[in-house]
Amino acid sequence: MSTPTLDKPLTLALSKGRIFEETLPLLAEAGIDVPENPESSRKLILPTSDPGLRLIIVRASDVPTYVQYGAADFGIAGKDVLFEHSAENGGGLYQPVDLNIARCRLCVAVREGFDYQEAVLQGSRLRVATKYVQAAREHFARKGVYVDIIKLYGSMELAPLVGLADAIVDLVSTGGTLRANHLVEVEEIVPISSRLIVNQASLKTRSRDLQPLIDAFARASHSSA
Ligand code: ATP
Ligand code: MG
Repeated sequence: MSTPTLDKPLTLALSKGRIFEETLPLLAEAGIDVPENPESSRKLILPTSDPGLRLIIVRASDVPTYVQYGAADFGIAGKDVLFEHSAENGGGLYQPVDLNIARCRLCVAVREGFDYQEAVLQGSRLRVATKYVQAAREHFARKGVYVDIIKLYGSMELAPLVGLADAIVDLVSTGGTLRANHLVEVEEIVPISSRLIVNQASLKTRSRDLQPLIDAFARASHSSA
C-alpha cells in the first residue's frame, strides 16, 4: 500500500488562538490566505488558498507530536512547548526558523509579600506549581534550590493564593494576569517565542514543496521583526 504523496497537500500543524492569529500575516506574506477561522468554523482541517497546503488545528502542546510522527509535515510551536516535548520525547525535530511570534517569557512568580530571595538564601524547600515541569526542574537545579514540583494544567496563578504552592513557573507577557491576582514576577527563566518545526522525513522526501515555504516563513519573520 503506497500513498501517492505528490498529490497530498503539505500539512502545517498549529494551535488556534495567538499562534494562529500571528501566523496569518506570515502566510499572507508568502501569498497564502486562510479563508476560514478555526474559532468560528470549529473545523480542525482548514484549506488554504494554496491547494498544496492545508492547516490542522491541534492543542499547542500536541503540535510537536503531530510533526514528530509525520502526521503533519511541519508545525509552529512555542519554545516552552518544544522544551517540554524534547525533554520527554528526545530530539528529532528540525527547528529551522525562529518566527518571533507569540513572544513572552517564562518566569517565576510569587504572592505579593512573599520574600522569595530570602527563602532561596535560607535554603528553604520551595513548592512550585507549573505546567512547565521540565523547564522548572532544570531552572531550580541550576540554581541549587530544592523544589517540590506540582504539575498543573492551567490557572497556575491560583496556586500561591490558596496555599497549594509558594511559587509558580508560568508564561508572562504584559504581567496583567499576575497583577490582577496579586502576584509578582521574581525571576525570568527564558524569553519565549514560537519556532517553525519540520518533520525530518518530510524535509528529505518533500523538500521541493517544503523548502520554499520554510524560506518564505524565514523572510516574513525577519521582515516583521
Ligand atoms: P491551552 O490554552 O489550550 O491550555 P496553551 O495555553 O498552551 O494551551 P495558548 O495559550 O494559545 O495555548 O499558548 C500557545 C503558545 O503561545 C504557548 O505555548 C506560548 O509559546 C505562547 N504564549 C502563551 N502565553 C502567552 C502570552 N501571554 N503572550 C504571548 N505568548 C504566549
Ligand atoms: Mg493558554
